[in-house]
Amino acid sequence: LRANFSIIQKETGFVNGLITVLHDITEQEKIDLERREFVANVSHELRTPLTTMRSYLEALAEGAWQDEEIAPQFLNVTQTETERMIRLVNDLLQLSKMDSKDYRFNKDWIDFILLFHRIIDRFEMTKNLNVTFERYLPDQAMFVEIDTDKITQVLDNIISNALKYSPEGGTITFNVKENNGFIEISVSDQGLGIPKENLDKVFERFYRVDKARSRQMGGTGLGLAIAKEMITAHGGDIWATSVEGKGTTITFTLPFDSAQEDDWS
Ligand code: ADP
Repeated sequence: LRANFSIIQKETGFVNGLITVLHDITEQEKIDLERREFVANVSHELRTPLTTMRSYLEALAEGAWQDEEIAPQFLNVTQTETERMIRLVNDLLQLSKMDSKDYRFNKDWIDFILLFHRIIDRFEMTKNLNVTFERYLPDQAMFVEIDTDKITQVLDNIISNALKYSPEGGTITFNVKENNGFIEISVSDQGLGIPKENLDKVFERFYRVDKARSRQMGGTGLGLAIAKEMITAHGGDIWATSVEGKGTTITFTLPFDSAQEDDWS
């Protein structure tokens, strides 16, 4: 429902009436509106790095290229912006693929615990890592039927965010437990957190709590939106909890049949 309010105001300036017109926004109208917003967002997201690059390239062309100190810095900016645009276009392609009706997952039965350890290992190998990782993962295998590449992408997005928003010397905690026919996976950091009113919104396309900061850190604003679509398509759920100033936890679930587990052993 959309409400249009008209305030009836007398010349005295006092409000003495209110007319309300309520009408339905049809499903189609909603889709059109979302599509228009999406295109506007994409254009804006691409224009920002492009205009940045234009000004740096202009400065280089106008003589900065001769300055041994400035030139490498300016080139570095254009390189970083180009890489962010490539990430953005790749994310957009990913979303558009998932939007298409005949999108298929490549599912396999795999041990989630082993997969998760491997992904965490990969991040732990990063040079100059200044956070500590703590793993609370079960010792025994937990088999799930998933598209490994897609779930890896989801975990990559969540762990990169945890690293991006972690304070120096902070701890990132990884948890896996079984819960009522689901396997529940969570990644917690000790970063700045997410305000309560934004906890659901961070899963919307292009939503960021702090746009400038996200861009500065190379974010596209699509990571969690993609994660949500992938997890939902696997029959799971994803959500964020946070204490502002203390940290954030991103949790997701995947269907898990513990009875099936017995057949494997
Ligand atoms: P981005 O590319 O901006 O990281 P995401 O879709 O991955 O896009 O995340 C959306 C927004 O959610 C981020 O811009 C940030 O504001 C917030 N966010 C995500 N993860 C965290 C976290 N671990 N701590 C604090 N804020 C987070």
